[in-house]
Amino acid sequence: MTVWDGLVGQRAVIATLSRAVGGHGMTHAWLFTGPPGSGRSNAAVAFAAALQCEQRSGCGECHACHTVLAGSHADVVRVRTEKLSIGVDDVRDLVRKAALAPVGARWQIMVVEDADRLTDSACNALLKAIEEPTERTVWLLCAPTSEDVLGTIRSRCRSIALSTPAPVDVADFLVRTEGVSESLASYAARASQGHIGRARALARDEATRNRRRERHRGAGATRARRTGEQPGVGHPVAAHGPAQGGDHGPLPDQPLPDGHRASSRLARASRGRTRARTASTRSSTGRRASRTR
Ligand SMILES: [Zn+2]
Repeated sequence: MTVWDGLVGQRAVIATLSRAVGGHGMTHAWLFTGPPGSGRSNAAVAFAAALQCEQRSGCGECHACHTVLAGSHADVVRVRTEKLSIGVDDVRDLVRKAALAPVGARWQIMVVEDADRLTDSACNALLKAIEEPTERTVWLLCAPTSEDVLGTIRSRCRSIALSTPAPVDVADFLVRTEGVSESLASYAARASQGHIGRARALARDEATRNRRRERHRGAGATRARRTGEQPGVGHPVAAHGPAQGGDHGPLPDQPLPDGHRASSRLARASRGRTRARTASTRSSTGRRASRTR
């Protein structure tokens, strides 16, 4: 398993970054952009691992790959924040660290996961560091879009744009990493609309519920199952009917009454319209169509 395996549906990005690891198109400042859940931070960290990799490939097996992914590599600093902004003092610390020679033989890598939260003065401090790079320092900045980063910084970075992964790629990933069935993976992939974290949580949640249900069934608790077999009127479970995607179907081997309820909570959150409609009987035909689609 290589460091790239955690990136979902980003073949072009992986190809570009792999070439850079091999010395083609390498530069000292990169900007990773992509919608929430597309894995822009994961891409930056995978790139950092590949750059430090003892095999120079991102093998995923060597000590360097492991420690970068685990967040304990001495030459990879990863900046994340829960705060609304990253101030100039934080960046000055970072710039000082960036100027140090790496402990190992390769790069000193600074990953700034929320570059869109840099204050103006923090940006200026960072800009100076990026304008006058030390030979072995690499900056990996992450932001939702390139417009979220000051133009002067953006123009000095090589841009890596991640796209929202396709449902089929998310589903493959879930089957591979979570060990869930293809039908459940496909359902979770579509319900999460390309957000990897949400898809994963959904698949895990469903899988846990399925296992619990299997145990109950084994113990003879068949009643609990029967209550779920009738989708209630106004219940969003109808949205998972076979007519919706074609590739999913009603999960014949996995009656998921409770699970569907939980997952439709997620679907509902992203589709406020659905809930609004449930509350009102005067919905338009168009809305009804979208709900039973
Ligand atoms: Zn490696």
